[in-house]
Amino acid sequence: MSYNQLYINGQWLTPKNGQTFSSIDPSNEQEIAQVAAASVEDAELAVQAARQAFDQTDWSQQPKQRAVYLRAIAQEIRQQLDQLAEIEVRDNGKPLPEAVWDIQDAAGCFDFYADLAEQLAENQDEQIPLSDERFSSVVCKEAVGVACAIIPWNYPLLMAAWKVAPALAAGCTLILKPAEATSLTAMELGRIAEKVGLPAGVLNIVTGIGSEIGPYLTAHPEIDKVAFTGSVPIGKQIMQSAAHSVKNLSLELGGKSAFIIFADSDLDAAVEWIMFGIFWNQGQVCSATSRVLVEQAIYPELLKRLAEAAQKIKIGQGLEADVKLGPLVNAKQYQQVMNAIQQGKQDGVTLMSGGKRPAHLAQGYYVEPTIFMDVPVEHPLWTDEIFGPVVAIRAFETEQEAIQLANQSIFGLAGAVMSKDMARCQRVAGKLRAGIIWINCSQPTFTEAPWGGYKQSGIGRELGIWGLENYLEIKQITSYDSDQPWGWYNS
Ligand code: NAP
Ligand code: MG
Repeated sequence: MSYNQLYINGQWLTPKNGQTFSSIDPSNEQEIAQVAAASVEDAELAVQAARQAFDQTDWSQQPKQRAVYLRAIAQEIRQQLDQLAEIEVRDNGKPLPEAVWDIQDAAGCFDFYADLAEQLAENQDEQIPLSDERFSSVVCKEAVGVACAIIPWNYPLLMAAWKVAPALAAGCTLILKPAEATSLTAMELGRIAEKVGLPAGVLNIVTGIGSEIGPYLTAHPEIDKVAFTGSVPIGKQIMQSAAHSVKNLSLELGGKSAFIIFADSDLDAAVEWIMFGIFWNQGQVCSATSRVLVEQAIYPELLKRLAEAAQKIKIGQGLEADVKLGPLVNAKQYQQVMNAIQQGKQDGVTLMSGGKRPAHLAQGYYVEPTIFMDVPVEHPLWTDEIFGPVVAIRAFETEQEAIQLANQSIFGLAGAVMSKDMARCQRVAGKLRAGIIWINCSQPTFTEAPWGGYKQSGIGRELGIWGLENYLEIKQITSYDSDQPWGWYNS
């Protein structure tokens, strides 16, 4: 399959400068495809195409028709499930069952927003009561305009779906810029859009180098909205760049989420959810519960069980049977995670388990599931997002201390709490300063529920109705219904 063209205005175009970059399979470090590297001129073509489709067609006026396209995309994704999942494994490294979840969720996301597009068609205008009866006012919601969606590499097709589906449902047109490390399924989405006959210019996909085309797109005066998922530093740059034209902006950024385990918890369940919370998708998860706080009474026993369980996780190439941990996405991410581990070791933080490349895997960006214990609260292992299979654990004595430690972070994406005492779980959930709280679990994510963070974890919410509202403007239409003169001038 070839990936050396861009999908712009319903056509496959070779980048103006003819440039490509290579996408690699992180399990063997081999190139799997040459991917088109859009230049600023190509990005401009995509903006013009999206602008024209928004301004000069009735795309934004046809919610029912949009729902039909969204359902067709969902259906086509499901039909291509096996191929898409395999591409995702090869490009990103994740284990196949997780790639299958992603692709199924991506299809589900398109169906979900198809339903919301239909609801938009039905509840167009809302009459609102006014304090002055001489006037009447209706409120309607309409598409924000041309959107630019920039996504990371950890859930390639799913992150595309989280933005493309609600944007299209809302009636926006858009430009999608996938992450360099994992562009392939985004281009497959372009082929699917073409196959289902999505009108030209509605969805444009430009692969390329973020630092080259990103600033151009995010500052572009003809783009109305930027939706970004990625790191905090790039999120801050995008805020600045979008400020020039005061764009509508939503940001889904990083996290360092805490998981509080009380002593009355079932230890097997605690081990299972702690591991899932930090090791699934190799820990490259924005909401990963990478800080674990364990009540002192069970701390030694839980640590022992956790280390035993972590050592049993099967590590390997994502298509191999029973593999739970694949390679990290690329050399840069591998180096970053290894550096964080190295720093922990150098600073004398206690390494309980893992911390190196698995002995049987000489090639590929593999890192063992890694557990640090008694991690000091000021240490980078406790404060910084590592975005790898590395968990920092420490004990706590009181509920109040656990809450205080959990909230002591620049991030506020997620948090989790485990206890048999539901009243306590609810109390703690209410006090955690984060946008997503899990009780007696960690990570399950639902298209219906809002997703996003407090503090430096972002602005706005994706998914659910909130995800649609990200792409809608609110308009009031107020009329003066009285026969009487207004009388400001002529009273
Ligand atoms: P990243 O380096 O911030 O990159 C994200 C995207 O931005 C990529 O497509 C990247 O392109 C592009 N980009 C790079 N420089 C840019 C610029 N100056 N202007 C505009 N776009 C630019 O993040 P990442 O390493 O891909 O992803 C990991 C981060 O994403 C983590 O911090 C994680 O927590 C966060 N994340 C958050 C969520 C959430 O829902 N909150 C979900 C997933 C991930 P290139 O790939 O070409 O550099
Ligand atoms: Mg790749």
